[in-house]
Amino acid sequence: MSTGSFEGKAVLVTGGGSGIGQAAARQFAAAGADVLVADVDDAGARSTVESIRSAGGSADHQCADVSDEAQVEALVARAVDRFGGLDCAFNNAGVSAPRTPLAEMSVSEWDRLIRVNLTSVFLCMRAELRHMTAHGGGAIVNTASTAGLRPPPGVGAYAASKHGVVGLTKTAAGEHAGGPVRVNAICPGGTDTPLLRASIGRDADVGARWASRPMSTADDVAAAALWLCSDAARSVSGVALVVDRGAMFA
Ligand code: NAD
Repeated sequence: MSTGSFEGKAVLVTGGGSGIGQAAARQFAAAGADVLVADVDDAGARSTVESIRSAGGSADHQCADVSDEAQVEALVARAVDRFGGLDCAFNNAGVSAPRTPLAEMSVSEWDRLIRVNLTSVFLCMRAELRHMTAHGGGAIVNTASTAGLRPPPGVGAYAASKHGVVGLTKTAAGEHAGGPVRVNAICPGGTDTPLLRASIGRDADVGARWASRPMSTADDVAAAALWLCSDAARSVSGVALVVDRGAMFA
């Protein structure tokens, strides 16, 4: 998978303070991009930026809750202001939840997952598309999940949010078909990050599931996001790329 250079490109990564987003921010920067690392966890975002700068890369951080409309508008404006444009966006921030059968799920839990995992992607894409369509194009990648294609039991709100991300991605790709903006999703399976480690720690079923299935690294998943953003994928738009080492079929 060749991604080439991102030299001179401005890239926004949400959820860049940890896991897949942190790996992607580092890879974009190593490929020459100017990276705005956004996270609700400012300490995480700062530490990603420090690691990029100490490796000689270009990055800045922004504390932002991507489920909040005003903060997302300010975030995209900051990326444009800081680096003179926005060429690529990796809308990746997300949360998981303890496994809960639908019959026992609270409305507040449902609302939280939909707001943070799905509404955030709508808000980010809306602001990014407005900028990119007015300024020559760009590439957007949204993080969904294999649970957004084939969910296991007990993850109803998470699965609905990630199915929604896949649907939004395809809708946006269709609206911009043939144009200068491409929109794709990645669907990671189990990926060794703090999010999955927390799920394994609180739920024995999740631990048992991933003990016997192949898991990816955050760098594996980030590499797929970079490829989708790269010129090598210039004809690819509207896909939901599964990155799970075949686990969905195991
Ligand atoms: P992670 O917890 O390591 O990183 C997620 C980051 O998102 C954290 O730094 C967190 O602070 C940030 N974040 C959460 N809510 C936010 C908000 N409202 N605004 C801004 N930032 C926020 O998790 P990860 O595993 O790297 O997850 C990244 C994405 O990948 C998520 O969308 C997740 O659903 C998805 N995913 C993960 C796995 C997995 O197995 N790890 C599998 C499929 C999909």
